Amino acid sequence: MRVVPQSFEVLTELDQGSMLTRLEACGRICYKSEGRITPDSAEPFVRNVLKSGHNSVAEMAVCTLRVTLDARVMVDRFLETLPKFLSISALDKHVLLITGSVRAFRELYLSHPTLKMVKGITRFLAERWPVFFFDLRPKNGWPRQDGVAVEKLPLSEVDALPADLLAKHRHLAVRFITNRAVSHEIVRHRPCSFLQESQRYCRYDKDQFGGEVTFIKPMFFAEGSPEYALWEEAMRRGESLYLRLLETSSPQAARTVLPNSCKTEIIVYANLLEWFHIFRLRTSTAAEPSMREIMIPLLAEFKRLFPAVFGGLEPAA
Ligand SMILES: Cc1cc2nc3c(=O)[nH]c(=O)nc-3n(C[C@H](O)[C@H](O)[C@H](O)COP(=O)(O)OP(=O)(O)OC[C@H]3O[C@@H](n4cnc5c(N)ncnc54)[C@H](O)[C@@H]3O)c2cc1C
Repeated sequence: MRVVPQSFEVLTELDQGSMLTRLEACGRICYKSEGRITPDSAEPFVRNVLKSGHNSVAEMAVCTLRVTLDARVMVDRFLETLPKFLSISALDKHVLLITGSVRAFRELYLSHPTLKMVKGITRFLAERWPVFFFDLRPKNGWPRQDGVAVEKLPLSEVDALPADLLAKHRHLAVRFITNRAVSHEIVRHRPCSFLQESQRYCRYDKDQFGGEVTFIKPMFFAEGSPEYALWEEAMRRGESLYLRLLETSSPQAARTVLPNSCKTEIIVYANLLEWFHIFRLRTSTAAEPSMREIMIPLLAEFKRLFPAVFGGLEPAA
């Protein structure tokens, strides 16, 4: 049995890579198979997850588009569809800023394949990233859509947007190493995208995991105290039963004896507006103390990265 503290990492380095490598880097957290990443592994990995319906992987990369329409009616028709899971801002009567994930853009096309503006956006994306739309390509390819001009904003341009647009369109991913109780609370934040280490696929008796279960150090009990000793005893017992069950059962069956303190890794991806909401709730004194333990230093990091959005935010007393 291993005991580790909670931690987090803001995944800013993923923002510098391609959308494809980003999807693989995030998707592999579920299987803890990051060691299998090679220069050529991203495309087959992403094709497989798109085919298999492991859809949340396709939520882990967004891009921001500036879409200019010749006719206002195209904007109105698009907005009438009540597009889901996209951040949309009108820059002008004919110009929209649209941020969405691979999944959101795929499903936009699947829901509205005849709408000119949607066809124009999908054509632009599919020509740039054929792998994201390999299964949706029409027989005769993606036809030109006159009157719909689409440009991708480089990240530097998104980062230079005024604070209100920045908060809505800039997304940031954080990897947490935490326990199953905290991760369960984090996933209640519905506008976020999540990928989490799977206790169904990961077998903690394997060498990769050191043949043992890892637990998160509880912040409630001082090391050496009688309460800590009780906690340790419970974890040891849980681990021993889990390893015994694995001798005859699958990980998904054996995990039923694992406790809340079990270590997990989870990637949370959201726009800054949602992160602002999360910090307001999860750094306050009303929040669960282990959640505050990790969210308060994370807020400090976000303030450093995006002072225009988070500068005035303090943990509520
Ligand atoms: C101190 C504290 C105690 C808690 N106690 C409990 C508890 O005892 N039991 C329990 O089950 N949960 C509990 N929760 C979880 C809480 O109820 C929320 O589910 C969680 O904090 C997610 O936050 P949210 O719903 O504000 O926003 P998010 O899910 O982060 O959504 C962000 C915003 O999107 C909008 N939104 C998203 N989905 C909807 C929707 N379906 N309808 C309308 N608006 C929507 C809202 O404007 C919301 O502010 C607790 C949370 C805290 C912070």
